[in-house]
Amino acid sequence: MIRIHKPKIAPKKLTTDGKQKCKSHCDAYSLNPSAYETNQEKFDFASSIYAHESVKEALIKAQHQKCCFCERIIGKNGDVEHFRPKGAYQQAKGEPLKYPAYYWLAYQWENLYLSCPSCNSRHKKNLFPLQDPTKRATNHNQRITKENPLFIDCGKEDPQEFIGFRAEYAYAIDGNPKGKITIDYLDLNSEDLTESRRQKLNSLRELSKILSSAIENSDNQEWQKIADELKVYLAEALADSAEFAAANRCAIYAEFQESDLI
Ligand SMILES: [Zn+2]
Repeated sequence: MIRIHKPKIAPKKLTTDGKQKCKSHCDAYSLNPSAYETNQEKFDFASSIYAHESVKEALIKAQHQKCCFCERIIGKNGDVEHFRPKGAYQQAKGEPLKYPAYYWLAYQWENLYLSCPSCNSRHKKNLFPLQDPTKRATNHNQRITKENPLFIDCGKEDPQEFIGFRAEYAYAIDGNPKGKITIDYLDLNSEDLTESRRQKLNSLRELSKILSSAIENSDNQEWQKIADELKVYLAEALADSAEFAAANRCAIYAEFQESDLI
């Protein structure tokens, strides 16, 4: 995971139709809260608004076509993911679903990301654990600012402060709970993901070795040229747009000082 910088201005679809739809959800809840709390009434969420083409395109661009959680390149095949789930939530795996969830944030730009089907539909689903569940906002009259989520919100905080990588494996820095839960619940050390990271890191390691030799022999013009070319290649692997940039950064920085590469 890396920090994601979304444009400050939300796509118009969210601030027009989304705002209107949000009001209709809030009004419906206020008329009969218990019906929504018991799931007898359900909100008619409009994916035509929160997953509108303009919203998806803005997310694809801001996230460099990658899943916000696992950093796989997904191109246009991602799902629009609600950081705070819209319909129902779970504090922990195996616990019953609770209703309603964060219906009033269903069209809120800050709450939307693009994720791969594996992270969204297989792992995160309705999970939204809080450090103190008694602080949870359970309707639109309550404030989410009192919450301390145990998932890293990559639009607001830097995931690299919570999650590091030892080779292809993610770990929670100093055992912090946010890093631990995010890795565990999203299965960021799945066989599939670690294998993909391993392949990428192996080729980076090979290039790093050649670069080390090139730097040692930099008084030779040929080696100097090779070093310059490799620095460009490795800098690309560190960029936000690179697949598995967070793991690449840990591996390359362990080998070189950042200043050697830029
Ligand atoms: Zn993913």
